[in-house]
Parts: sequence; structure tokens; C-alpha cells
Amino acid sequence: MIKLINEFGKMPGIGQKTAERLACHVLKQSPDEAMQLAYAIRDVKKFIKACATCFNVAEEDPCHICRSTERDHSTICVVEQVADLLIIEKTGKYHGLYHVLCGHISPLEDITPESLTIEKLLQRVKEIPAKEVILATNMNMEGDATALYIHKQLGSLGVRVTRLARGLPSGSYLEYANTAIIADAISGRNEMGHP
Ligand SMILES: [Zn+2]
Repeated sequence: MIKLINEFGKMPGIGQKTAERLACHVLKQSPDEAMQLAYAIRDVKKFIKACATCFNVAEEDPCHICRSTERDHSTICVVEQVADLLIIEKTGKYHGLYHVLCGHISPLEDITPESLTIEKLLQRVKEIPAKEVILATNMNMEGDATALYIHKQLGSLGVRVTRLARGLPSGSYLEYANTAIIADAISGRNEMGHP
């Protein structure tokens, strides 16, 4: 039990009290139910990996999006995390590629540009070469700062850089927005101009 509480406690945003509550929940579950959690954790490490190109999670590398011949390979939509990619996919309005940053720049949390996948993004933009990069980071301080930083880095590459439309309320997280708003934000995306 202590071991389980400790493991839950290591997860982001889970404090001691919540860790205890989760452990109690598992204790009350039937053996079958509890094993579903164990299997899900085992399988995610066994079968799922990060796509080495876009950092989407996938059962195959490259992922199904990077491999697709139906998609527009000259447009890359940059998101902070896989959950954001999933919500944009859900709109059915976007048919380009993605690039998952695996976070945002945040000096307060000691997250530097180097700890994200920005270098790989710049490399992809040059290699493809991409015609447009859509910066779909969250509409909050960290997301804006990250978008601005990437915009500057892309400056010399001659690629069109756009940002999701401000239909998304300021301070909002993509993953909690509804798909209709995200769909609007994609179709109404704004040019970022020269950095
Ligand atoms: Zn991929």
C-alpha cells in the first residue's frame, strides 16, 4: 500500500492526500479491475513509443500521421503536448503534420528551449521544407512566450508562421476547449508577421 501511495505521489499534480485516495480506490477495486490499471501501464511502455519525427505517441515509428500520404506534408502544427494534437485531430479540420514540443518554455519551472523539441522542429522545417508552421501552443503566458521564441527562430527560414486565432479565450488550454472553438481557431489563424 505504501509503495502504491509513493508511486501515485510521483505523478504530476498529485499530492500526498490524492495519492492516498487513489491507492484506497485501487484497494477497493476487484482484482480484475485493479489489474486493468497495471496492464495499461505495462502496455504503454511495451507497445507505445514517441515518434522520432514529430514526438506524437504511437505504436509505430514514424507515427501514422507522419506516414500518411493523404496529409499535407508542407504544414506543421506545433503543440505543447499529445493531448493538444488529439483535440485538433478531433476537429477534422486540420490535415497537415504535427510537432509535439513536450512542454513549454518556463524560466520559473526551469524549462529551457533546449529541453523541448524545438531544435528538431527547425531541422524538419528546413528539410521538408515546410511552407507553413502553425503555432498552436496554449493561449497563456508560457504558451505565448514559447510561440514567440519559435517564431524568432523560424525568422530566417522564410516559412509562413501563423498562430491560432484569438477566438480561444486568453489564458486557455487547448485540451479543455471544445472542438468547435478549436476548429474556428484553426481556420481563422493569424499571420505572425516578421519577428
Ligand atoms: Zn510522427
